[in-house]
Amino acid sequence: MASVSIPACTTALLLDIEGTTTPITFDILFPYIRDHLEDHLSAHWEEDECKQDVHLLKKQMEEDMRQNRACPVHTVDQTVHTDEEKAIREVVENVMWQMAADRKSTALKQLQGHMWRAAYTSGRIKGEIYPDVVPSIKMWRERGLKVYIYSSGSVEAQKLLFGHSVEGDVLDLFDGHFDTTIGAKVDSKSYERIAERIDSQPEEITFLTDVSRANRPHGESLCQTVLTRGFVVAEAKAAEEAGLNVLLVVRPGNMELTDEESAHYNLITSFSQLQLTGRA
Ligand SMILES: [Mg+2]
Repeated sequence: MASVSIPACTTALLLDIEGTTTPITFDILFPYIRDHLEDHLSAHWEEDECKQDVHLLKKQMEEDMRQNRACPVHTVDQTVHTDEEKAIREVVENVMWQMAADRKSTALKQLQGHMWRAAYTSGRIKGEIYPDVVPSIKMWRERGLKVYIYSSGSVEAQKLLFGHSVEGDVLDLFDGHFDTTIGAKVDSKSYERIAERIDSQPEEITFLTDVSRANRPHGESLCQTVLTRGFVVAEAKAAEEAGLNVLLVVRPGNMELTDEESAHYNLITSFSQLQLTGRA
């Protein structure tokens, strides 16, 4: 595929993760929780961090009961004997229910974050990165460009992924990380804020993002997919509105672009196609 030039005034590259630097991780991270939750709770039940996670989940459960939200009914399991086993089963049931309902409670997110951290640090999960990503970023940095990440995954999750990647710890490739605490990815103000934070003009930043099935859970309807798609295009549009230069990254499994999108955006299938013409 042909190379694509970025403006000569570019000083910084801003990268999306899922569908851009990394294949969609949805299919790995969430099943990991489902498969390992009970073992995780049994192994760490007496530890402070786990106690706090369970405490938060219990408070959430109570809150859900008060508000009459649907909550799983606990049937007495004859194979369970001790109080601890019972308590663990109760937590497992609740977490499974929250995940099936796609709840975004702090209690759920905190527990998931702790489990993923343990999985990354022990090497049971590695952050996937497309093979063109690391060599390209190294070259851009040699040419004096700054490189930042902007993802809807938390900064902590971003650092886990790149700190424990298939290519080892590559965190030193990045000058900074942004997540949705700076604002939503579909809001052009978020990109203005990022420009301010990194001391650049919006037109000096090139944003690389995808139009992919990112964050599409199994079983999502076609209608939802269309919404997701609109959402990701909205992300590119928002960055553009803020004045950033936008490149769309086309990766395996991405949705087909409409003719209008293909005509409007510069497309790359690999970071190596980025041409830094006019730069020292
Ligand atoms: Mg993405």
